[in-house]
Amino acid sequence: MRLSVAAKEKTARTSKKKSPVSKGIKQSSVTERRCSIASTVGILSDAWAFLVIREAFFGSKRFEEFRSGLEITRATLTDRLRRLTHEGILREVSYSDTSSRVEYKLTKAGIDLYPTFMALMQFGDRWLESSKSGPLQLIHQGCNCVSKPIVTCSCCERRITAQDVTYIDGPGGGRVAADTPWRSRRTGDDFMRGRPSSVSRSLEVIGDRWSFLIIREAFYGHTRFDQLQAELGIATNILTDRLARLVDRGVFRKQKYQSAPERFEYVLTPMGADLHGPLMMMMAWGDRWRANGRPPMLLHHKLCDENFTPVVACNRCGQPIDAFSMKYRMRYNPDKFGGRKSSRAVPGRV
Ligand SMILES: [Zn+2]
Ligand SMILES: [Zn+2]
Repeated sequence: MRLSVAAKEKTARTSKKKSPVSKGIKQSSVTERRCSIASTVGILSDAWAFLVIREAFFGSKRFEEFRSGLEITRATLTDRLRRLTHEGILREVSYSDTSSRVEYKLTKAGIDLYPTFMALMQFGDRWLESSKSGPLQLIHQGCNCVSKPIVTCSCCERRITAQDVTYIDGPGGGRVAADTPWRSRRTGDDFMRGRPSSVSRSLEVIGDRWSFLIIREAFYGHTRFDQLQAELGIATNILTDRLARLVDRGVFRKQKYQSAPERFEYVLTPMGADLHGPLMMMMAWGDRWRANGRPPMLLHHKLCDENFTPVVACNRCGQPIDAFSMKYRMRYNPDKFGGRKSSRAVPGRV
């Protein structure tokens, strides 16, 4: 079933470009913008991969810990652990001299996903949480305060918003053959497995890889159907489906810009615009770990007139945060989800 959906999407994408001269043209003839967001999206838009990384932040290290916390099948877990190790997010460490058993620890690149998770979590707490308090309360150890981290400019340290940022082609810019790593089918409610999580809720609203990329294009000013199609090389039926879903989820508002024939554009709602922070953090991660020192795009902050790197900082003291400087309180019973392993985000550091 899953394969057939993926296969359908692939067929839809390739058939669009098919010409009478070259039948069965390869998928690689479709190009996409070189983009550091896409490399991070490739990992986080796979619900299972995301959930495994999240559980690693909560202290899971061993196969059984991941399995019991997520109720994931052995085959799927084996596959995601292998892929995440291959991607350099996790590393295998032997935990016994007498057996070949390994545990999985986050690498530096894996730990560096933490600010992105924080940005997604804050988005979820702001827009998707009805109780006004998310499942986790964060405490920043730097100032010992309850913290609601924000995405800030590395130069002026002010909070960044979509309208204050412009984009400049970087040394690694241009277009490349389209790649669909992992899988591009919609994963829907899979994100919601296991413990309550505002990061899960955010990812569930954004959806799959295509939806991420459509939202990204909106920040670049591409809001019309044909613009999105040209930029992304996406099949008409998939684009229609994803736009309808994103409108339904409150990320976009459909707005008429022409009457005869009727044409609409897709404008980010205030909630959609607030996805800017998480997407910028995903770009920063991709730039650090996937761009070989050649970022495809540079960010320019209008408020300070400097090129900058987005940073997740404590809203109370303004210091940049990382996985080692945050503690959390759970507002749910962790025993239901594989137990309490640590009150810090990264395993093995307590
Ligand atoms: Zn600035
Ligand atoms: Zn602080």
